[in-house]
Amino acid sequence: MKKIETDVIVVAAGLSGLAAAISAAENGAKVTVFEKSNTTGGAANMGMGPLGVGSPIQKNQMVSLTPGEAFRKHMYFTHYRVDARLVRDYYFKSGETIEWLMDMGVEFVGVQRAFSAPENTRAYSDGEFTWHVVKPEGGGIPGPRAATSMTKKMTERAVELGVEIIFETPVSKIITENGEAVGVIAKNKAGEEIEARAKAVILATGGFGDNPEMIKEETGYEFGKTIFNFAIPGMKGEGIKMAWEAGAGHTNANMELMYQLPDNMNHFILDGAFRQPCLWVNKLGQRFMPEDQIANTTFTGNAITAQPGSVAYSIFDSKMLKKYKKKGPDIVSHVHPHDLFDNFDEEWERDLQNGYEPIAQGDSIEELAKNAGIDIEGLVNQVEEYNEMCAEGFDEIFEKDRKYMQPIEKGPFYCCRQNVGAYGSIGGILINHKTEVMTEDYKVIPGLYAVGTDACNIFGDSYPFILSGNTMGFCLNSGRIAGENAAEKLNEF
Ligand SMILES: Cc1cc2nc3c(=O)[nH]c(=O)nc-3n(C[C@H](O)[C@H](O)[C@H](O)COP(=O)(O)OP(=O)(O)OC[C@H]3O[C@@H](n4cnc5c(N)ncnc54)[C@H](O)[C@@H]3O)c2cc1C
Repeated sequence: MKKIETDVIVVAAGLSGLAAAISAAENGAKVTVFEKSNTTGGAANMGMGPLGVGSPIQKNQMVSLTPGEAFRKHMYFTHYRVDARLVRDYYFKSGETIEWLMDMGVEFVGVQRAFSAPENTRAYSDGEFTWHVVKPEGGGIPGPRAATSMTKKMTERAVELGVEIIFETPVSKIITENGEAVGVIAKNKAGEEIEARAKAVILATGGFGDNPEMIKEETGYEFGKTIFNFAIPGMKGEGIKMAWEAGAGHTNANMELMYQLPDNMNHFILDGAFRQPCLWVNKLGQRFMPEDQIANTTFTGNAITAQPGSVAYSIFDSKMLKKYKKKGPDIVSHVHPHDLFDNFDEEWERDLQNGYEPIAQGDSIEELAKNAGIDIEGLVNQVEEYNEMCAEGFDEIFEKDRKYMQPIEKGPFYCCRQNVGAYGSIGGILINHKTEVMTEDYKVIPGLYAVGTDACNIFGDSYPFILSGNTMGFCLNSGRIAGENAAEKLNEF
């Protein structure tokens, strides 16, 4: 067995692991990172950017939200069922973290909110301008994967600081002695076991989005049946299991919910096109939420979860399609292409011919319901009621914004099944505000830290979409907190 001695071991070079490694190295530690895959950045390479509050970018854009206000909004949203001290430390660090990233060369196109609610629901659900969208490599309009340029810069910074990143070397165990974490066991590409010893171990393995059994055990969702989450390869929950084995407390773990089409990255036009405040029904043909709220993907993911079979159907008619093609979508997502409907017909016909299961078309409402698998009588009755309300100009059931009350009357009719989706998992390992891992009875396990999604227990039951960029925000800031604390610990030796 190969033996290694270092100051700080970071398990994984995803977003939180990189932040931890850089911070520990900046504070004088010799850092070794073990990464299972052959690259850095993890799921962050799929995303667009982190939350920050009080950043120079916000100040330039005259965004006045303060860390204290963000903290209070977050705690109100979670009903104080999460660690207020950890949430507080995260928000108060988050503005400076954006500056820290800019200093290492990360560029942001600006700060956005993930969605905006109609004026009459503003007080409750409107999003804040916290999402710092990373400038994609080579410029252009930001979209999925824009944040790759951030993880690249972070990797460069880590290497410049002398951090050693050992690729294709998964960690399988934390070594503990007298209740303290003193190292890890890993296996390299050649199959050779490595015993690495250090004064601190930081876990950052990105949760269990790619582990259907663990998703079922921890959250009750069934992958491919009641949830169609992004399953970024390699996110098996290994860090969480290792921590539990080493005595860590177990916290509620959730999926970071939204809604999406199965295999959505290959059906991205349709994924965006049907995210409109048209008519949304469940399997029984019944409406279940004011459709003007569907831009809040967390709320919609929760609402779909509560429907029979955890599915929903988004429906528009030919008249609406014609309008979308002419004037653009009612809701413009920041993630999907803005010219969605220019390319709609092409993708629709292709997917229809290929039998892409979530979509259906019909010349009558009955035919549509039959093809989509919705209760026929239920949908016919619902469309009748809905069209009457459209004629009145007012939604008596959910008070949906009047401007979206457009009848479903001209065939052919188009339908797309919407499933519960998720970016990945959140939570599992109990930590304190210093990101130190704690046992079930809240005793610190010396030398052991957990960060990022493995330890993100601050969202309560739902991702706080009102403060967007929150997962990357937590990953970066928890990583920095752990790196700083782990490096400080070296002085005790
Ligand atoms: C499509 C998509 C878009 C997103 N957009 C955004 C966004 O715009 N803003 C936002 O805030 N969040 C976004 N997110 C979420 C965000 O990207 C993730 O929550 C974040 O990257 C998680 O960081 P992490 O450090 O916990 O894990 P990751 O960055 O996923 O890294 C985990 C790493 O652990 C490694 N690993 C796993 N097991 C082991 C092991 N045993 N040993 C060694 N290494 C191991 C993996 O290979 C991986 O490199 C998005 C997610 C997706 C999927």
